Amino acid sequence: MKFLCVSCDRVMAFAERQIPGDGTLAAVFVCDSCGREIAMLANPMETQLVSSLGVKIGGRTVPEQPLEHTRTNLEGGRADAFEGESRLTPGAVQWDADAMHRLQRVPAFVRGMVKRIYADWAAEHGIPMITTAVMDRARADLGLEGM
Ligand SMILES: [Zn+2]
Repeated sequence: MKFLCVSCDRVMAFAERQIPGDGTLAAVFVCDSCGREIAMLANPMETQLVSSLGVKIGGRTVPEQPLEHTRTNLEGGRADAFEGESRLTPGAVQWDADAMHRLQRVPAFVRGMVKRIYADWAAEHGIPMITTAVMDRARADLGLEGM
């Protein structure tokens, strides 16, 4: 994702990003030619969208943030979203070495959320151990290519 200063026809530089913890994302981009600043604000759902597209905003990383909206957003308001009989809680799901290795390739900015998505999916399917094969299945199931 890039922002262009129309007046200067220059790509604006990322200046600041904040994730206050409620899932809201704010990013400021500055034109280094004319100094114009623009800010992008995203609500939790939009933040999830950007994250799920694999877009890393700016060059810095921030600490992982558990995003409580992941489950509801991904399930798109499905009527049975909260009625599933989970035999496991996401925190009880284990990760094998290969799966952890793959997770480490996810940008730190979204890693916590991605881990949660897989853990939730595994828990809902009664899978106690996440492997790369499980990640592939979850990704296909959830339509999360690139994660
Ligand atoms: Zn400019």
